[in-house]
Amino acid sequence: YRRKDELGRFIEGFNLMRSHLKQSLANQRQYEQNRKELIATISHDLRTPLQSIKGYVEGINDGIVQNEEMKKKYLQVILSKTEQLDRLIDDLFDFSKIELDQLAIEKNVINSQEFLGSLFEYAKMDNERKSVKFNVTNSIPSVLIDIDPVRIEQAITNLLDNAVRYGGTEINITISIDLLTKSLSIEIKDNGIGISKEDLPNVFDLFFRGEKSRSREFGGTGLGLAIVKKIIKAHDGTITVESEVGRGSLFIIRLPFVEKKL
Ligand code: ADP
Repeated sequence: YRRKDELGRFIEGFNLMRSHLKQSLANQRQYEQNRKELIATISHDLRTPLQSIKGYVEGINDGIVQNEEMKKKYLQVILSKTEQLDRLIDDLFDFSKIELDQLAIEKNVINSQEFLGSLFEYAKMDNERKSVKFNVTNSIPSVLIDIDPVRIEQAITNLLDNAVRYGGTEINITISIDLLTKSLSIEIKDNGIGISKEDLPNVFDLFFRGEKSRSREFGGTGLGLAIVKKIIKAHDGTITVESEVGRGSLFIIRLPFVEKKL
């Protein structure tokens, strides 16, 4: 009987291992497939804005532009396409570092009020230039945080960029920052298109793009939120999202602060 038992356990273990192996192979295949699709998307996404820039520059060069107003419009398109390219290349660069597990984090102890104050002040100016309503609802708490300011700024900027890109027609972004017992909570709320229940659990996955965003008008790669999550995790923080289609999304970052020694 004992031998039969052992044999049973052995077969059970073997089957479990086989199914794990199968699953991990399937994951690997899915990952490779996503990578291939990403490369196709990138080639397309790099070429489209470049062609548009080329067209507008040629327009100016050939003297099609007749007045200052038209020239301004052309230059604005060129600028926005350049920014789009810049974002894509930044994302790609970080993505390759994530793959190699080399996303460098250089932490410094800094004051939350000074750091977030200037970050959001700049974001407000930048958004109002794009006719986006931008509001910080409360005064920013002053505590010490041990962070890589460049990376945290990148994460927050990424969330703000998404809020604008998926913001619909009249974009309204609301920021609230609160002090909890052990962490600082940063909430970024938009009134945009929202995320469906099915998509919501996947938005932080590498390569994930919402059903609506797959059409390329939004100009994304599905890398942004995966990078944001990686950055926040590297700071022992958390990021969560709540959302409703048609009503908007709320992203909540929690960053531990440095407790003062008694
Ligand atoms: P993408 O490059 O597609 O924007 P992200 O990783 O930044 O990739 O986001 C993943 C997906 O999550 C997006 O494709 C979009 O469907 C959804 N999403 C992210 N932020 C928002 C938001 N503020 N409002 C609505 N949907 C969002």
